[in-house]
Amino acid sequence: MTSRRGFLQTLSAPLVTMPLLSRAGWATPTEGPVLRVALLGLGSYANRVAEAMKGSSRARVTGLVSGTPQKLKDWSARFQVPEKNCYSYEQYDAIRDNPDIDAVYIITPNALHLPHALRVARAGKHVICEKPMALNAKEGRMMVEACEKAGVKLLVGYRMHFEAKTLEIIRMRKAGDFGKVLYFNGLSGFRIGNPSQWRLNRELAGGGSMMDIGIYSVNGARYMVGEDPVWVTAQETKTDPVKFKEGVDETITFQFGFPSGASASCLSTYSLNNLDRFFLDGTNGFAELQPSTGYGPIMGRTHKGPLEFTHITHQTVQMDEMAAILLDGKTPVVPVDGREGLKDLVIIDAIYKAARTGRRVEIAYD
Ligand code: NAD
Repeated sequence: MTSRRGFLQTLSAPLVTMPLLSRAGWATPTEGPVLRVALLGLGSYANRVAEAMKGSSRARVTGLVSGTPQKLKDWSARFQVPEKNCYSYEQYDAIRDNPDIDAVYIITPNALHLPHALRVARAGKHVICEKPMALNAKEGRMMVEACEKAGVKLLVGYRMHFEAKTLEIIRMRKAGDFGKVLYFNGLSGFRIGNPSQWRLNRELAGGGSMMDIGIYSVNGARYMVGEDPVWVTAQETKTDPVKFKEGVDETITFQFGFPSGASASCLSTYSLNNLDRFFLDGTNGFAELQPSTGYGPIMGRTHKGPLEFTHITHQTVQMDEMAAILLDGKTPVVPVDGREGLKDLVIIDAIYKAARTGRRVEIAYD
């Protein structure tokens, strides 16, 4: 993780004590009931989320699920989680009877998102799941249906959907400031290290760079343009077939067509750093974010000048907002629900198909 985002500054954000207002009229909810969250999978990103939640006024870590007893012990001390709220993978269905837990946040390797989401839904708790929501659209549909059937909500950890500069561009696009939007360019990549990590294991990752980092350009194309693509073409290149085995994509370039006639051209790679850039162009102006999806601060400008909003740790804002969605019924500017996560999986399935066949693939969302 450090190598992945090494070029980004790490900031320790101050505690948020006042609502953060943007010109979009969006405010981080700092008052209201607290969302009690169990973290499932105590790896590097869960650590980042747990630390960020210390700054959240609406969400708190109240439970832990891990296969490693020592981790449970260490984390329960670090985050003041009582022992009775700490579970092994074998035991955690009992979370059903634990009134201290409202939601379970799944932060495991991608292949485990589906089985854990089904279990959490059966336990009657809301599911928050990391991206990519599942390995493919078929799995994604199973998750959406299971959560609907169980009467619990399913949210995906799309932290950029709550980021102030990103939201300002969306506000400007809706206000017509860019004129007719005609083009998006998304560059998402980093040089991946250790060849034995799960991200390079097809069974656990479900693919390669596209599942992990390319998804930011897929999702970003949608919220920047404000439409869902209807066709895709894609090309795959591989320079290291030993590190990037069959079914693990190293680099994919892909192009989208949108219903309005706008187009996008994007890159997903595990072989190059310095690739974290979004560019949106319209008949009356442009927006640029660079870095666009790292942990921040996000930097951006438009034809009107630089975007200046205070950086707040993304996961802190995300968890405040997710508390408002789950507990207050708030509707976010950009959705973060299971159907939103499913759309990205439908698109990624189509990208892989286009890269495999060399043909343009029409995207059907139903
Ligand atoms: P990680 O390897 O650091 O942590 C994964 C955790 O899952 C570990 O604690 C590991 O012990 C546990 N685990 C449980 N069952 C396992 C199994 N069978 N095999 C391997 N590990 C198992 O990975 P990470 O970087 O924390 O990523 C976890 C998830 O979070 C991924 O889905 C990833 O895409 C996502 N993620 C999201 C962001 C973001 O910005 N939203 C950033 C990083 C990671």
